[in-house]
Amino acid sequence: NDRIISANFMMEDNVVEYSLRPRFLAEYIGQKQAKENLKIYIEAAKLRKEALDHVLLYGPPGLGKTTLSNIIANELGVNIRTTSGPAIERPGDLAAILTNLQEGDVLFIDEIHRLHRTVEEVLYPAMEDFALDIIIGKGPSARSVRLDLPPFTLIGATTRVGLLSAPLRDRFGVVSRLEFYTVDELSYIVSRTADILQVGIVGEAAREIGMRSRGTPRIANRLLKRVRDFAQVRGDGVITMALAQESLRLLQVDDLGLDEIDHKMLRAIIQSFQGGPVGLETIAATIGEESQTIEDVYEPYLLQIGFMQRTPRGRIVTPQAYHHLGLPVPEQR
Ligand code: ADP
Repeated sequence: NDRIISANFMMEDNVVEYSLRPRFLAEYIGQKQAKENLKIYIEAAKLRKEALDHVLLYGPPGLGKTTLSNIIANELGVNIRTTSGPAIERPGDLAAILTNLQEGDVLFIDEIHRLHRTVEEVLYPAMEDFALDIIIGKGPSARSVRLDLPPFTLIGATTRVGLLSAPLRDRFGVVSRLEFYTVDELSYIVSRTADILQVGIVGEAAREIGMRSRGTPRIANRLLKRVRDFAQVRGDGVITMALAQESLRLLQVDDLGLDEIDHKMLRAIIQSFQGGPVGLETIAATIGEESQTIEDVYEPYLLQIGFMQRTPRGRIVTPQAYHHLGLPVPEQR
């Protein structure tokens, strides 16, 4: 998936993503609700000198789950150990990670919905009682031994909270959904990143990039980096409004942040299915994409801006999308 407007992490993000990450809650733009709650829980945990309750962060990719997890550890003044659901292959791998934690540490598990079931079972007593149940021996002589773990905070992140098993989900004391960012917030993020990258940008241009970033800081930063290249090659290094618009046009990102694949999908639903309702699998087959990719990557933003709706009978394209594509809205739908 190499679309410039993909919210998923791409190699090109790697270069600066680390240095762009805010380190304190106060620097973390937006997500007012999540931030306010966390601030209180963090304060309380520090006052009681206890580990923070386990935290589950969910929402589409690129909205700042990893960033926020690092900030939480930083604000708590503890170490963070980072891993991901698919990276922990066996129960023993998780046991090794858990026994190496120090008191109060944060264990961050990205894509926690992809934990293997057998690994997940190790997590239950660890989260609940800070304990590890180990089976020693095999067959009839096997017995279970319980090891104590230091109190720690698990932070789980997922794009698909619906795939989490109920017993795992129930063990998180704090559950926060991250929201898409507003254009104002994204403009601010773009300006901040420009400062860090030491590239000049006029306010209007920062806003233009913010508007086309699909509510997603990762996309905002990526678009800014591409536009910066244009500014350095074609202009005098400063990102003006005209330069931003021209570069984004060349990058084929329209004024709402849609690219040709979004257009293709919307047009396919309109032209082949009269705007829907049509099932996800059918859409996937029609445009030759995986249904999973449509659901995780394309669709959330189109739903967010009201271009598509999910109904029990399938997806429908709304009149706003027809207008955006310059197509006449059919009279009876
Ligand atoms: P996720 O884990 O949800 O996929 P990340 O935490 O990796 O997202 O964030 C992607 C990028 O967006 C990071 O490089 C970070 O710099 C930037 N970012 C995310 N949230 C914010 C925010 N609230 N303020 C500023 N930058 C942010």
